Amino acid sequence: MQGNTAVFFNKLASGKLWLQYCESCHKYIFYPRVFCPNCLKPDLQWKETSGQGKVYSFTIIHYSNLPEKSEQVPYAYAIVELAEGIRLAANITDCHPKDISIGMSVELTVKKYHYSYLHYFRPATMNRKC
Ligand SMILES: [Zn+2]
Repeated sequence: MQGNTAVFFNKLASGKLWLQYCESCHKYIFYPRVFCPNCLKPDLQWKETSGQGKVYSFTIIHYSNLPEKSEQVPYAYAIVELAEGIRLAANITDCHPKDISIGMSVELTVKKYHYSYLHYFRPATMNRKC
């Protein structure tokens, strides 16, 4: 990995989700880029997010060809809308897929995956019932 993508994953290794923020139009952006997709200015800074969000949409994976994933089925793959307004894809963990619902509050958790770290979300502490 290089450039902004490497920065994103290196920051995940600290257990926090950081996103680029445009100082010109005051919006977060995802995925990492050189220029803001809204105003095309290169005034992007990295900012730590709250790690809080809500399930925007999800699907349940019942079968996987990936050996490391085939032992985890069924699992939920979701679009999470962060409190900062960005939507990103991630697995929902620490919860049975049948207990997930759209609009459910979730929080970030970071797990090691092969040689890197990935962002996952789990039910928010206050609502955890799984
Ligand atoms: Zn901008």
